[in-house]
Amino acid sequence: MKVLKFGGTSVGSAQRMQHVADIISDNEKKIVVLSAMSGTTNSLLQAVDYLRVGNLTGAADVVNLLERKYEKETAELYLTSSMQESVWEKLKTYFFEIRSLLLESYSNQIEKRIVSYGELISTLMFTSYLQEQNVDAVLMPALSFMRLNADGEPDMALTQQLLHEQLGQYGEHRIVITQGFICLNAEGKIDNLKRGGSDYSASIIGALSDAEEIQIWTDIDGMHNNDPRFVDGTQPVPQLSFEEAAELAYFGAKILHPTCILPAKMKSIPVRLLNTLDPTAPGTLISNDYKKGKIEAVAAKDGIAVVRIQSDRMLLAYGFLSRVFSVFEQHKTAIDLIATSEVAVSMSIDNLSRIGDIVEDLRKLGTVSFETGLSIISVVGDLRSDNLGFEAQVIDALKDIPVRMISYGGSDHNISLLVSTDDKVRALRALSKAIF
Ligand code: ADP
Ligand code: ASP
Ligand code: MG
Repeated sequence: MKVLKFGGTSVGSAQRMQHVADIISDNEKKIVVLSAMSGTTNSLLQAVDYLRVGNLTGAADVVNLLERKYEKETAELYLTSSMQESVWEKLKTYFFEIRSLLLESYSNQIEKRIVSYGELISTLMFTSYLQEQNVDAVLMPALSFMRLNADGEPDMALTQQLLHEQLGQYGEHRIVITQGFICLNAEGKIDNLKRGGSDYSASIIGALSDAEEIQIWTDIDGMHNNDPRFVDGTQPVPQLSFEEAAELAYFGAKILHPTCILPAKMKSIPVRLLNTLDPTAPGTLISNDYKKGKIEAVAAKDGIAVVRIQSDRMLLAYGFLSRVFSVFEQHKTAIDLIATSEVAVSMSIDNLSRIGDIVEDLRKLGTVSFETGLSIISVVGDLRSDNLGFEAQVIDALKDIPVRMISYGGSDHNISLLVSTDDKVRALRALSKAIF
C-alpha cells in the first residue's frame, strides 16, 4: 500500500480536486492525506490575528470571504444537487463553529481549533466527491489516531496503536482519506504539526503502516537544486538519499516539512516527490541510494540568530562547553550550527523565543554577544573527504559575500554557512552559478 499526500495547491479548487481524483484512480489501495485548500490556513490564521487584537469585524470579513469561496467551489465540484446540498450544509455547520470560536477571547487553543477547519473541510469535500463518483473511498479522521506527546512531538507508539485500530475499521476500502497537519495533543486537545505539517502526517502514517512508498504531490516537479522562489533556472534533482533530503528540508527547502523525512528514513520507506500539475514528470526519489561525490542542492533558512560566548579564562576550560550547552537545554532551544575556537564558541539557533533568558544565563559563564537577521545557507550532497575540492568550490562562489560562520564536517552531506539575510539571495544565486 502507498501513502499519497496532496498539498494545498493540489487541492486548491474544485477542478484541482477532480484532477487529484484522476491521479488516484488506478485500482491500487492507498491512504490519501490532504492539506487544506491553498490560502485557507493563511485566511484562518488571519481571522485569528484579528481576534487577537479585538478586531471582530476584520475576522468576520475574512471568514465571510472564505465561506463564499467554498460555496462557489462546492457548487462546481459535484454532479448532483443532492450531494452538493448535503456537503454545503455540513460546511455551513463548520463555518458556524468557526464564527462561534471567534466570539471567544483569543487563546492558543482557540487558534488551533480554528486552524484545524482547513483540513476538515478539504477532506470532507474530496471524500464526498469520490463517493459521488462511486469510488470506494472513506474518511478516516486524523483526530482519532494522530497524537502528540507531552513535549509536543508525535507520539509514535500511541499513534501506531490508534492508527492500526482505525485501519481495522476503515482499511477495507480502496481509498482511505485522512487529514494532514491536525492531531490531538497529550491533553486530548486539538493541535497540529506546525505549518506545512501535512507532509509530516503522511510520512508518519507511511512509516507506521509500513507503506511501500510515500508520495508527496505538490506544485513543482520534485526537489530543485536551489530555491526556485529566488533563483532562476533551477533543476529537479532525480535522486536524493534520506540524509540529503532531511538536511535540505531542515535547512529551508520549503517543498518538505523540516522533519518529515525522519519517519520514512527510520523504516527505509522511499519518498517520491511528484507534481500534480505534471503527473508524468519523474520528480525526486528519496531513498537509501545516493549519487557518489556530487553536490545535489542548496537551500536557505531565515530567522537565524547566532550567540557567541567567550570564556573569561584564556582557554576553554574543561567542562565549559557542557555548561554552555546546558543553558540551551534548560531553555529548550536547539542549536543548529556550532563553531569553536580555543577561547570562544558561536552557536546558531532558529527559535528566538528564549534568547533573552539564554543570553542572561550565558553571561554567568563568559562574555556574550548575539546577532539576529541571519540566514543559514546549506550546500548538500555526498561531500565525503575522498571527494576533494567541494569546500573550495563553495567558498570561492561566495568570495564577494561576507560569511559570518562556516560549519563543515559535522555530517558527510552538508556544508552550512551563515550570512546576513540581506545577502541570502545573492549567495544562493552565486552558488547556483558556480556549482550547477
Ligand atoms: P504544498 O502546498 O503542496 O505543501 P509547498 O508550497 O509547501 O507545497 O511546497 C512547494 C513549494 O516549495 C514550491 O512551489 C517551491 O516554491 C518551494 N520550494 C522551495 N525550495 C524548493 C526546492 N529546493 N525545490 C522545490 N521546491 C521548492
Ligand atoms: N494547511 C497547513 C498549512 O498550510 C498544513 C499543510 O499545508 O501542510 O501549513
Ligand atoms: Mg508544504
